[in-house]
Amino acid sequence: MADTDTAPFWRTKSLEEMDSSEWESLCDGCGRCCLVKLQDEDTEAIAYTDIGCKLLDEFGCRCRDYPNRQAQIEDCVRLTPETVRAIDWLPPSCAYRLVEEGRDLYWWHHLVSGDRDTVHAAGVSVRGKVAALEDELPLEDFVDHMVRWPLRLPRGAMQRPAAQRRKG
Ligand code: SF4
Ligand code: SF4
Repeated sequence: MADTDTAPFWRTKSLEEMDSSEWESLCDGCGRCCLVKLQDEDTEAIAYTDIGCKLLDEFGCRCRDYPNRQAQIEDCVRLTPETVRAIDWLPPSCAYRLVEEGRDLYWWHHLVSGDRDTVHAAGVSVRGKVAALEDELPLEDFVDHMVRWPLRLPRGAMQRPAAQRRKG
């Protein structure tokens, strides 16, 4: 039986019940949601590209102006419990999506591992995978950068490596 007094907040609280500090800490810092996405005009299907938003720090995988992101980037989506439920393009690894779906966080999430680098070590973050930022390429080239990996979990992301298991 789960002990709700000691279980971590993401297992016991819904997205709505989290306070602002819990909510912010839930982001794994992968940067996947900050990749440019293209929408098919006919089918409305969303495709990821390996092009980063112009505010994305490609190494740190974080927004370079998080407090002012909506003022700077018109189509930056502010995640809320409602938007997490409404948008269908959040990566399967996204912690908000996992919690909303009643699932646990993976071993590489910093709230589990205690280390903000494990999201990079597991190959989940966009570090080393961003081909360019959106202001570095002409718009007509974006279509050549469509990729599927942001909607997949990389090999090794599912199972905690032996060294991590030993740490408990
Ligand atoms: S995909 Fe989810 S967990 Fe990853 S950076 Fe975006 S909001 Fe955070
Ligand atoms: S403005 Fe910041 S948070 Fe929004 S998509 Fe761009 S990099 Fe990501």
